[in-house]
Amino acid sequence: MSLFVASRSALRAAAPLKRQFQVRRYATEPTSADPKKGSNTLLYGTAAAALAGVGYYFLGGTPAAKKAEEKVKDAAGAAAEKLPTVEAKAALTGGDQGWVSLKLEEVEIVNHNSKRFRFRLPEDDMVSGLHVASAILTKYKGPEAEKPVIRPYTPISDEDTKGYLDLLVKKYPNGPMSTHLHDMVPGQRLDVKGPIPKYPWSANKHNHIALIAGGTGITPMFQLCRAIFNNPDDQTKVTLVFGNISEDDILLKHELATLENHYPRRFRAFYVLDTPPKEWTGGRGYINKELLKTVLPEPKTDNIKLFVCGPPGMMDSISGNKKSPKDQGELKGILKELGYTPEQVYKF
Ligand SMILES: Cc1cc2nc3c(=O)[nH]c(=O)nc-3n(C[C@H](O)[C@H](O)[C@H](O)COP(=O)(O)OP(=O)(O)OC[C@H]3O[C@@H](n4cnc5c(N)ncnc54)[C@H](O)[C@@H]3O)c2cc1C
Repeated sequence: MSLFVASRSALRAAAPLKRQFQVRRYATEPTSADPKKGSNTLLYGTAAAALAGVGYYFLGGTPAAKKAEEKVKDAAGAAAEKLPTVEAKAALTGGDQGWVSLKLEEVEIVNHNSKRFRFRLPEDDMVSGLHVASAILTKYKGPEAEKPVIRPYTPISDEDTKGYLDLLVKKYPNGPMSTHLHDMVPGQRLDVKGPIPKYPWSANKHNHIALIAGGTGITPMFQLCRAIFNNPDDQTKVTLVFGNISEDDILLKHELATLENHYPRRFRAFYVLDTPPKEWTGGRGYINKELLKTVLPEPKTDNIKLFVCGPPGMMDSISGNKKSPKDQGELKGILKELGYTPEQVYKF
């Protein structure tokens, strides 16, 4: 139930992905629209295959899958041609703009600890002003606090969505910003600033990218996925490895399963759960070396990039943590042991 809610909300948020899905829905509903069926089958199947050491899966797309992908691509291309080329007004312009106060319009419960927040942009025809990959900063000063807390978030709404932006936020016990957000009610306002540029993406910048995410670390990865799969000219292959505590914690599960259905030759996802249910056939425990060695493109592969985003403990074990927002720090951990170079890895 809760995952279904998550799916509906984020699909609504991700406008161009939604556009593509609507194109397809005229003919057939994607299997992943059934929250109980499609995604789980896919999820268990792909992760099991990975763990069994099945080889390079991108070569395995069926002719039907290829045809479906081409159909979506053609339709999306035709739609893109009709789009007006006028630059939309941006709500967040960076530089010396300072903080912009946004009104909370809607809150949706996504699961036991996460909510989606829809904030109105100052004008209805404004876009957020974000480019992929980038984030926003939020600021809040509690009544007793000496200093405000400032935290980054990656909107899950699309960059060309007009009038609002959506944040998907997990609540941390005693976490000042996430608790404040979870306590907010529609009508209240939040100070935001941005965009905070991360890794500038352009179509086909890399042949193959791997996204290694833990928990809400999925949000910047989803932003990259949207940029790639909403652009019919972008042919980048994407491998996602997504670690969570329990099945209920998997955010954007349906959107990711839909990507797998539509782009089986270019998008694959592998899920790892710390406390899996009995019937779980995906990865168990933490994201480990064995799984990454099996599913990631090899270090010697031409023009690959690995993105990592997750809690500090996960970052530590996989890539080492960033030193500061501007300093990627040393490459350590599993990715170093597997032979990747610092240039091949980006830490969000
Ligand atoms: C680029 C970027 C994008 C992000 N996007 C999102 C998003 O879309 N959605 C989302 O929910 N979150 C996102 N985050 C995380 C977010 O910025 C906050 O860190 C999070 O919401 C917690 O903030 P807080 O003030 O509530 O709690 P905090 O006080 O910051 O921390 C909460 C808990 O996190 C753990 N923790 C945090 N920092 C450390 C540390 N250095 N060492 C050890 N443990 C630590 C601790 O367990 C702590 O109790 C993003 C982070 C980055 C860097």
